Amino acid sequence: MLRIEVVTLFPEMLRHALGFGVLGRALERGLVTVGTEDPRRYASGPHRSVDGRPYGGGPGMVGMPGPWSAAIDAAASRLAAGAGRPVGPGAGALPRVYLSAQGVRFGQATAREFASGAGFVLVAGRYEGLDERVLESRIDREISLGDFVLSGGEFAALAVIDAVVRLLPGALGDERSGQQESFAEGLLDWPHYTRPVEWEGRCVPEVLQGGHHAQIARWRRKQALGRTWLRRPDLIAALEERGGLDRESRSLLDEFLAEREVEKNG
Ligand code: SAM
Repeated sequence: MLRIEVVTLFPEMLRHALGFGVLGRALERGLVTVGTEDPRRYASGPHRSVDGRPYGGGPGMVGMPGPWSAAIDAAASRLAAGAGRPVGPGAGALPRVYLSAQGVRFGQATAREFASGAGFVLVAGRYEGLDERVLESRIDREISLGDFVLSGGEFAALAVIDAVVRLLPGALGDERSGQQESFAEGLLDWPHYTRPVEWEGRCVPEVLQGGHHAQIARWRRKQALGRTWLRRPDLIAALEERGGLDRESRSLLDEFLAEREVEKNG
């Protein structure tokens, strides 16, 4: 079982969103547990503040070290106890991950890495972020969803949890879905169609209507290669770096490009 702990000021938001679809079913089946820890529980003083004005001035607020570090420690202790493994820095330890626009870009490789581990702590920031000393003392990795700024790390936490959990054995209705989707083999997914066979004058490609499995597989691979070449040439370049496309893939890609040229000109 995968164990995830999330440090957040809005545990309800997270719990509610986790109840649907693939994630909801994975929780029900006991494939994953998601615990939450709210820094407000650890706040002290008359106002039980979890944020303060930034030293040096300027707009916004900053997550205070006391309550945030205490919440991260509580989440890490629960994770360590449940997984029977240490949490923190060092090889083999379970990571405490801060979701941050300044982090390393999250991708399918990281999702696979997390899915094959025993668990991790996600820290969802708010305000201008957390006091830097918390990051220095309590965070092992920083992960970003991309070059944009969210108002809170909860949205990023949900995206990471969803991408990871769908990779767990038994999470998807059909295991093949996970093996065939975008990035699984370094390519984008092929186009999908369902009923009706004709819609607004557009027809489902003929090859998909017959039951010839080898031809369907060939067509799908060709489309996956072609659309990756068109939309994400960086993925094709990465494949080339890792030893290149095999002869069949290369000829399927050439075929796709030749067909596209005919369509464009004709
Ligand atoms: N001052 C921060 C900066 O410029 O990098 C932005 C803080 S943002 C308003 C509040 C929180 O949202 C962050 O602490 C982080 O947890 C989360 N967040 C924002 N953008 C993100 C992204 N691209 N990926 C992951 N988390 C993000």
